[in-house]
Amino acid sequence: MDLPFFLLLLVVVATLAWFVGAPMLRQRRRAARSRKALPQEWRDWLERDMTIYRRLPAELRERLHAVIRVFIDEKRFVGCNGLEVTDHMRVLVAAYAGLLVLNRPGVPDRQLYDDLYAILIYPGAFVVPESHHDETGLVTEGERVLSGQTWDSRRIILSWEDIELARDEDHNVVLHEFAHYLDMEDETMDGAPGLGSEEAYEAWSEIFWEEYERLQDDVDAGRPTLLDPYAATEPAEFFAVATESFFIHSRELAARHPGLYEQLRRYYRLDPASWEA
Ligand SMILES: [Zn+2]
Repeated sequence: MDLPFFLLLLVVVATLAWFVGAPMLRQRRRAARSRKALPQEWRDWLERDMTIYRRLPAELRERLHAVIRVFIDEKRFVGCNGLEVTDHMRVLVAAYAGLLVLNRPGVPDRQLYDDLYAILIYPGAFVVPESHHDETGLVTEGERVLSGQTWDSRRIILSWEDIELARDEDHNVVLHEFAHYLDMEDETMDGAPGLGSEEAYEAWSEIFWEEYERLQDDVDAGRPTLLDPYAATEPAEFFAVATESFFIHSRELAARHPGLYEQLRRYYRLDPASWEA
């Protein structure tokens, strides 16, 4: 065997070992980490600050604890504009993010925002540059003020003030941004996350388009809506806002939009309307 061929072989073997070995190592690390108990203080924060946590059935609570453990151990939290990230912030972000994937097969060892590397937290709303292209090709440079942004599969940006203010009242920026993240897992952020089968996509798009158009009509006509009118701006926002509503106003959503609730119930594999009040 000549040397260049040997080197090439070595590179191929090392790359294969990395692709197979790295996820296995991560799974083992996650499994070990998820077995460690959650500190009592963290549980107290969840009880005090997260309404949905108080409604969670015991078995799901235990699973959420494991997810929080792994999430905080693995993801980087970065404070921006001078914000110092505390354990309290980490726990709340991890808990809401974890809620969305709680019943996914393999969680927390697998399928736990695997590509996500960092969560950036600003003290308050933050400004991002934005350019607007009109029909004539004219580009206007502007700015947008945001409370959260799903940047790509590596980063999510959040405003702590918005997490604190809203918690789970009406708008929950953590549920919203992580729903965008899940929507993006199948490459496109289009209001349909990875659903597995063609039948599932068909059922999803039928209900979603119907509900989306109905919401647009209601908003245009000035009729009151359960979903925040922001959901009518584009399908991706519809999915993110519907996700917030699914967890926060579960029973109302199930009663007033049963088809939509059912699609979300299937996707998240959770039935929050059945959890205690
Ligand atoms: Zn959004």
